[in-house]
Amino acid sequence: ILQVKGLIKKYGDKVVLNGIDFEVEKGKVIAILGPSGCGKSTLLRCLNGLEEVQGGDILLENESLINESTKWQEVRQRIGMVFQSYDLFPNLSVMENILLSPLKVQKRKRQEAERKAIELLERVGLVERANDYPRQLSGGQKQRIAIVRALCINPEIMLFDEVTASLDPEMVREVLEVIAQLAEQGMTMLIVTHEMNFAKLVADKVIFMDKGNIIEHASSEQFFLKPQTERAQQFLNILQ
Ligand code: ATP
Ligand code: MG
Repeated sequence: ILQVKGLIKKYGDKVVLNGIDFEVEKGKVIAILGPSGCGKSTLLRCLNGLEEVQGGDILLENESLINESTKWQEVRQRIGMVFQSYDLFPNLSVMENILLSPLKVQKRKRQEAERKAIELLERVGLVERANDYPRQLSGGQKQRIAIVRALCINPEIMLFDEVTASLDPEMVREVLEVIAQLAEQGMTMLIVTHEMNFAKLVADKVIFMDKGNIIEHASSEQFFLKPQTERAQQFLNILQ
C-alpha cells in the first residue's frame, strides 16, 4: 500500500534520512525503532507531507506523492498521524475536536460522522466523555481521543510517533491497548515506539534505524530473538 524508495531528507547540509527504502503491506504493522535523533519522527513527517524531501520517492497505492500536484490535505485523510503531544483544541469539546475534519475538510454529514465518532469512542471506552473539554481529561484519555480523532477520518494507514512517551506509566497501557486492538482489526500502521514489549507484541516487522539509515529490517520475531547488527543489540540491551 505504501512504498518508500531512496528517501533523502536534509536540513541544510545535515543529512537526516540517507536513502530510506521499505514497503508497507496492507494490514501489516511496522515498528520503527532506533536511538534518539536517528530520524524516526522525520521519516513519519515526510510520509505525511510535513517535511519537504530532497530525494527519493513515496508511493501510496503506486502513485507518487513527491510531485507538485500532490494535495497533501487529501493524502492526510488517507494517512492519519498521532503524535506524542495530543494537540487537541482546548476550546472545543471532545466531540467537536473529533468532528472538525470530517465536517470541515471531508464535508461529511454530521449525523454519519457523529455516529462514527460515537462508535470509535465506545471502542476506546470514552463515549461518556464526548461533551467534556480536553482539560477535564487525563493524559491517557486525551491521547485516546487524539487517536479517535485520527480514525474518524477513515484513514487507510495510521502513523504513531511515540504516542505514549509523555504519559504516566499507568496510562501507557490504556493507549497501547487501543493500538493493539487496531492491529487485530487489520489496520495498517507504522509505529515509532520505545516500548519494546509492545513492539514485539503488535509488530509484524521491525525497521531499526541509525543515523538516518535503516540498518536492520526483519520480522519482529527475528529482530527480537537475534538482531543482526551490534548497534541493534546494544540498543535492545540498554532498554531491557
Ligand atoms: P527521538 O527518538 O529523540 O524522537 P528521532 O529519531 O525521532 O529522535 P528526529 O526528530 O527525526 O529523530 O531527528 C533526526 C535528526 O534531525 C536529529 O539530528 C535532529 O536534530 C534533526 N532535526 C530534526 N528536526 C530538525 C529541524 N527542524 N531542523 C534541523 N534539524 C532537525
Ligand atoms: Mg522522534
